Amino acid sequence: DLRDSPVVILPKPSPKAIESRLFINNEFIPSVSGKRFDVISPITEAVSASVYEAGVEDVELAVQAAKAALPAWSERNATERAHFLNKWADALEAAAEEMAYLDAISMGKPAYPDRLAPMVPIIVRFFAAKALDITGESSLNSAGFMNVSLRQPYGVCAAITPWNAPVMMMVYKVSAALITGNTLVLKSSEKSPLSSLVAARCAREAGFPPGVLNVLSGFGRPCGEALARHMEIRKISFTGSTATGKAIQKCAAESNLKSVSLELGGKSPLVIFEDADLAKAIPASTMSILMNSGQVCNAITRVYVHESLAEAFIEGVKGAMSAMGASANPLHEGTMRGPQADRLQFERVLAYLDLAKQSGIRIAHGGNREASPGYYVEPTILVDVPEDSRLVKEEIFGPVLIVNRFSEENDALNRANDSEYGLYASVFTRDLSRAIRVAKRLEAGSVGVNCTSPVLAMDMPFGGWKSSGQGREFSRYATDYWTELKSVYFAI
Ligand code: NAD
Repeated sequence: DLRDSPVVILPKPSPKAIESRLFINNEFIPSVSGKRFDVISPITEAVSASVYEAGVEDVELAVQAAKAALPAWSERNATERAHFLNKWADALEAAAEEMAYLDAISMGKPAYPDRLAPMVPIIVRFFAAKALDITGESSLNSAGFMNVSLRQPYGVCAAITPWNAPVMMMVYKVSAALITGNTLVLKSSEKSPLSSLVAARCAREAGFPPGVLNVLSGFGRPCGEALARHMEIRKISFTGSTATGKAIQKCAAESNLKSVSLELGGKSPLVIFEDADLAKAIPASTMSILMNSGQVCNAITRVYVHESLAEAFIEGVKGAMSAMGASANPLHEGTMRGPQADRLQFERVLAYLDLAKQSGIRIAHGGNREASPGYYVEPTILVDVPEDSRLVKEEIFGPVLIVNRFSEENDALNRANDSEYGLYASVFTRDLSRAIRVAKRLEAGSVGVNCTSPVLAMDMPFGGWKSSGQGREFSRYATDYWTELKSVYFAI
């Protein structure tokens, strides 16, 4: 069984080599209180590392470091900032295996796909290349005036990241914040703090001036909340759950009304019409719900399939799930599906599966814990789930696909849109007019036509409608997101 085998494909750092301190002013230092917390491996259920926990005093140190670094950093040529980012990308590339290893032992993300698709340095270089595009507008439309608008940094900013793609989430925020001239304090997730500390070390290797980037490991309370309430932080960018996004918004409103950008949860629908190509829809839906063990914000979780194709679709997804084989140790070459990130996440998913069983819902595949030890859950298909069930309404964040059937387009779209979330949606059809009509009607920040969530492009804006968030992270809008606008009027 791959889960039990001791073979590890990546070089294992010695426990001493795992950085456990906070990164402030280019130094790794213990927290002021000396408090630590344990990171638990979802593979073994044993302690992977013990990490210093940032408290309110550490937030203060980090904010003051970022404040001291701000004038010099924001006054540099944008191309100089790009130079630092490009050097950071090189260092991150060299540390890719180390970070993949640390994520695997913290939150179970398969290390192998990360090695095949080195997205992290690509993201950093994308933002470095944007350096000279951070511009405003000019106008001669008012008689006697030439007017210009300027894009300027907010100043000291904060970022709070989730655990499901720790380094990727980090570099999106850091790269866009820094290229636009801000300095930053980032809090990683308490479930996966280790790889973010390696990325911080890479920033120091790349020659970032002290204080430009500061990285804290800690919990939502007190650390995250202290950032959200801090009077000297002018912008906060958050990725995580909708409930936490609302809490951060409230802290911002109660303190200095800092600008808040939110990338939140989802419950993404897929509508499969009677003319769809099932040979494409089946693997696309299966990949979407099983990637990262279903712990992806824009994963397809609710399928509305035309009644004429429903049983063929369910059989097809069952076959595709079985063909992927059992979940396995995320450190092994070839593992595509590891455990859930931690005990909390694991028990949450199992509680939803219990609810399905208690409600008498048809479980076409899976429905149970997959192995022990480790937080492994079977890929699961739930069929004909009532629309008002918590299983349809709430984000499960596990490998659980809901398949409901429909007979009429309007009904399918009403049900697809009947959600507080609006992050992502897909449609499969061979009818071009219908594809356009449906893409227009789906209430989501991104829509896939004949494709699902693994397909995203960095030059397209990414973010949520409704309770899935506000602000856009990829594309040119990502740098807009980190700048304030100023209009300057020149009388001539
Ligand atoms: P979470 O909201 O529990 O935690 C996210 C981060 O917020 C963590 O760093 C946590 O410590 C911090 N936090 C918690 N409470 C806080 C508070 N009161 N104040 C400030 N910070 C606080 O979410 P999670 O479980 O880490 O991540 C999973 C969620 O993230 C899912 O809902 C998923 O859909 C969402 N997500 C969204 C995207 C996106 O781009 N839209 C991407 C990945 C994950």
